[in-house]
Amino acid sequence: MKNYIDGQWVDSSNGKTIDKLNPSTGELLDKFPASTTDDVDRAIDAAEASYEAWYALGSVERGRIIRETGDRIKAARKELEEILIRECGKVKVQAAEEVDGVLDQVYYYSEFARKITGDIVEGTTSHRKIFQYKIPHGVVIALTPWNFPAAMVARKLAPALLTGNSVVLKPSSDTPLTAEWIVRKFVEAGIPRGVLNLITGKGSEIGDYIVSHKKVGLVTMTGSTETGQRIIQNTAKNMAKTILELGGKAPFIIWKDAYLENAARALIWAKFWNAGQSCIAAERVYVHSDVKKKFMDIFLKMTSEIRVGDPTTSVMGPLINRGAVETMESFMSKARQEKLNIVAGGKIPDMSGPLKNGFFFEPTVIDNVPQESPLFQEEIFGPIVGIHEVSDKETMFRLANDSRYGLASYLFTSDMNLVYEASERIRFGEIYVNMPGPEASQGYHTGFRMTGQAGEGSKYGIEEYLKIKNVYVDYSGNKLRIGTVPGF
Ligand code: NAP
Repeated sequence: MKNYIDGQWVDSSNGKTIDKLNPSTGELLDKFPASTTDDVDRAIDAAEASYEAWYALGSVERGRIIRETGDRIKAARKELEEILIRECGKVKVQAAEEVDGVLDQVYYYSEFARKITGDIVEGTTSHRKIFQYKIPHGVVIALTPWNFPAAMVARKLAPALLTGNSVVLKPSSDTPLTAEWIVRKFVEAGIPRGVLNLITGKGSEIGDYIVSHKKVGLVTMTGSTETGQRIIQNTAKNMAKTILELGGKAPFIIWKDAYLENAARALIWAKFWNAGQSCIAAERVYVHSDVKKKFMDIFLKMTSEIRVGDPTTSVMGPLINRGAVETMESFMSKARQEKLNIVAGGKIPDMSGPLKNGFFFEPTVIDNVPQESPLFQEEIFGPIVGIHEVSDKETMFRLANDSRYGLASYLFTSDMNLVYEASERIRFGEIYVNMPGPEASQGYHTGFRMTGQAGEGSKYGIEEYLKIKNVYVDYSGNKLRIGTVPGF
């Protein structure tokens, strides 16, 4: 694959590449450019040079190009699904679901083309007005993760471009091919030269340089909290605005009056969707003592039915890379040290044929996990879930809120009073009541505490890509009287 800089598909300036492996087989899938700081400079220069004309084009025409991109993605969607399966190990149905999500984002944001408004505010004396224009930030750096590599690219590119920014996209080094495919669709749809640039390479090598570049106006990143903290340190140098969608540790509450089968189905989704590699994954289950046994019977039976293997034929595919499997093993060795009760899974499954070198891990359930265990404090980001029994409401609220992260949370109950109370007391950016996720384009996806800053989706997400410029106008034509300067 290649970088896309200033309207050209190019290799990195020193010709170096990085290997991308297929997570199902461990085999080489492709090589992608190991970009240099020279490549970064050229991409950012191109974005800056093209930005004024792109903004001047107007939002309706920009929206048309974004919609056209959506049409092209739709027409070739099978190709994107196959890349997601090969590159990311997505199972078939989830690859298709992710492409649905991409189209939803692209069309949703394109609809804002005629909805960008500013304000006209009365001046402090007559015949004066203040025009408050919403304008783009200029050059946007979009840094995306590997777990939803297509949806996250779409969720950043569509609003950034619609609002008139130019973009340099640096995707995760685990999923460069998905990003390249989507950028090609923007190019086919007629995105002008320089407005959208793609560079690949290790964030640990070029990330600091990109985000602190003096020509950058906004950095939007979805990824880990540690990377987000580093970006904030680096953007102190250029004062670029940041949109940071970071880690999660969702509590999943099953109250005594919950519809248990629905709760179990939703938990299967919330934990094993994408093999648990989701920022809104349920990572801490709090189940009421009155229904715990019944719930566990249903949930463990469902868990035992999850087939792990080839993503084209299974319910759960591989993890993204070998490092992710090692992380699961490390959580399990801590669980064993703590002598926790592993009631399902817990190890690398036996695979045969081409899958034997793939990055698989069993769906795993651990019972009676203490609140202070690393399993309940650190983001697992894989198919391991811990269960904790609760019997009173105050303890439930206290434990659910006890996390450095604050993205998603789940509550299953038929008690509407509890729903209203939880809406106020659960301190997370999203609460899913009696339903699974994921977030919708028209919702504002935002996290509290160490989950980051700002958010994406909805009119509030669009506004993140705009800043306000104030123009003060006197239209009286009268001689100016400036009382504070004597004689004038
Ligand atoms: P990550 O390692 O933090 O990487 C995210 C992106 O940042 C990648 O493109 C990465 O490039 C780049 N990067 C790495 N170091 C950088 C640096 N110093 N400066 C600038 N960019 C740098 O995260 P990940 O492993 O891809 O994704 C998993 C994490 O994302 C989890 O914590 C998950 O919870 C979170 N997530 C959050 C949301 C949300 O909406 N809140 C959604 C999805 C995922 P390289 O790949 O080259 O290192």
